[in-house]
Amino acid sequence: MKGRGVSDFRSDTVTHPTAAMREAMATAPLGDDVFGDDPTVRELEVYAAELFGKERAIYLPSGTMANQVAARVHTRRGNEVILEAGSHTFFFEQGGLAALSGLQARPLTGERGRIPLEDLEAAIRTENEHFPVTSLIVLENTHNMAGGTILPLDYLQGVKELALRHGLKFHLDGARICNAEAATGIRLADWAATADTVSCCLSKGLSAPIGTVLVGDDDVIREARRVRKLFGGGMRQVGVIAAAGLVALRDMRARLVEDHRRAKVLAEGLNAKPGLAAEEPETNLVYVDTPKGKASAVAARFAEEKVLCIPIGPSRVRFVTHNDVDDDDVRRALSVALSEGDLTS
Ligand SMILES: *Cc1c(COP(=O)(O)O)cnc(C)c1O
Repeated sequence: MKGRGVSDFRSDTVTHPTAAMREAMATAPLGDDVFGDDPTVRELEVYAAELFGKERAIYLPSGTMANQVAARVHTRRGNEVILEAGSHTFFFEQGGLAALSGLQARPLTGERGRIPLEDLEAAIRTENEHFPVTSLIVLENTHNMAGGTILPLDYLQGVKELALRHGLKFHLDGARICNAEAATGIRLADWAATADTVSCCLSKGLSAPIGTVLVGDDDVIREARRVRKLFGGGMRQVGVIAAAGLVALRDMRARLVEDHRRAKVLAEGLNAKPGLAAEEPETNLVYVDTPKGKASAVAARFAEEKVLCIPIGPSRVRFVTHNDVDDDDVRRALSVALSEGDLTS
């Protein structure tokens, strides 16, 4: 409970930088990253490129900007982008594809975050003067809204083959790709080999305060630097924060299995309460169905006992496990859930 007296399960973005991160931040060598001479940012970018098995990486302020920069780099105005209907890029980025880059989104409904390959292929536009040109596929791994689900590697390899066959680019929103790595043991480079670009948030389960890396080929990332500047994301002595990102990427990935273990314990426990139905989590996100229309009431009841979760729909709440909740926090959440009486009154 980390001294604040609150068990905060709202998101893995609420994580605070660790002591090791604070230390690294205090001593990081700095430069002006727009000139390309912040040594700490460079170290992070070189490390990320190597880890993901790509030629180059770029450090960006947020996951949203990483997705939007990637989309811009891979397309031209008026192109169509195929993406999953519940994905962050379609659902939570304010229509940025259209607003920032003149792109038309083509959302397809997936199954646990996966768009069936035949649906993907059927949605690719044929050559016709009336049609927009399909140029990009965006998928999310792990998939947030689908429940922190892992898109299997062989599925992503299928997407890659399909994209190659049709001359499309493929961007993987890997905000939580390290959770997929931790859950499966499949290396980041193997995941990344399926896509042209991959983004990875340092500020979620990895606990850095800010930042996302985007990895890809040299020419793609060079162009991404131009677009980052266009979108206002060029930063100066940002090694002061990238230092925490480096610790996050190096030292915080292995412990994600702890979050996954706690998510399972939490889901199982919550299921014991009549009226609550938690899906079995694959990673660190626990989605729980509540009685109809009662999500806000359930969240408010937990909040009275200083356990925070978020209503994610009228009848659904979300709990997220992360570095700043421990076994005591899980026990506290379960003791609230399993206490006498109706959670929703
Ligand atoms: C959080 C998240 C993002 C965006 O990250 P921000 O840093 O909050 O902009 C993108 N994609 C997914 C799947 C996310 O969960």
